[in-house]
Amino acid sequence: MKILKMFKDKTVFSFEVFPPKRTTPIESIYKTLDELKDLKPDFISVTYGAGGSNIGASTTQIASTIKRNYGIEPVAHLPCINFTKDEILRILDDFHRNDIENILALRGDINPDISPKKDFKYASDLVEFIKQNRDFHIIGACYPECHFESIDLDTDIKNLKKKVDAGADQLITQLFFDNNIFYSFLENVRKAKIKVPIQAGIMPVVNKKQIERMVSLCGASLPTKFTKIMQRYENHPEALRDAGIAYAVNQIVDLIANGVDGIHLYTMNNAYVAKRISDAISGVLI
Ligand code: FAD
Repeated sequence: MKILKMFKDKTVFSFEVFPPKRTTPIESIYKTLDELKDLKPDFISVTYGAGGSNIGASTTQIASTIKRNYGIEPVAHLPCINFTKDEILRILDDFHRNDIENILALRGDINPDISPKKDFKYASDLVEFIKQNRDFHIIGACYPECHFESIDLDTDIKNLKKKVDAGADQLITQLFFDNNIFYSFLENVRKAKIKVPIQAGIMPVVNKKQIERMVSLCGASLPTKFTKIMQRYENHPEALRDAGIAYAVNQIVDLIANGVDGIHLYTMNNAYVAKRISDAISGVLI
């Protein structure tokens, strides 16, 4: 089933998981999925390493299992920067053979150790190529605090419009901790005549290591309310986990109250945290 239809009736609620590292057996993800399936998400998306070659085979395998064994709609992420058109066609056909109908079409981060192939420069090139050649529901990424390579948010939103005009049916945001930033982004995006559903990406921060990674990697603004909580509990693992869950729940309730199209939870493969959040918001997901 193509997931666009889901947005007509409700606030869509979905999860993101990632394939285990190469050194870990792939089966470890199925223990997580066994628990996630009971939470009845609308879909589960599976990330895809941007290294090219065969690196995404586990994405296909996991997404296919989500559909066939768990009866949940999967979304396969697909970063294009290190693939040729022929390679992308082979991957799309592999998705199709594996009952995967929904793709998160991405450019991928540029790795200084891998020179990108020349066929796709931006995610919008991939979106257009998929639309012209195959039949998938296509999601794109968007950045409420601006993509780090863009000179400003206006430029980034103009580029986002190109991605939607190329055929992206829906968008999912990068994580953020300040809902006001999301509301202001949404206003600007709608003014730019981008009309597709936009799911808010929410990451519960539940341990100290995650906070440090977050600050160095994603560049999301950390509101005072958030940093105070993190500082207060950083040396109390269980209290920090509970405070991180409570923060994410508050964010989600506020987003739903303000009419968000959907919530995409970055689960970090942590089914316990996903369950706590799902239980807390189940009554307000209308
Ligand atoms: P694009 O939309 O191509 O944008 C990249 C930059 O180019 C932006 O600055 C944009 O403004 C600019 N740009 C776009 N189009 C044009 C144009 N026509 N002319 C000029 N400039 C333009 N990465 C992975 O490797 N695997 C994953 O599974 C993965 N999952 C993700 C899931 C989500 C929800 C998000 C938000 C990101 C994910 N990423 C993933 C990270 C993503 O690959 C990086 O953020 C990457 O740097 C940008 O990808 P994009 O698809 O947004 O690129």
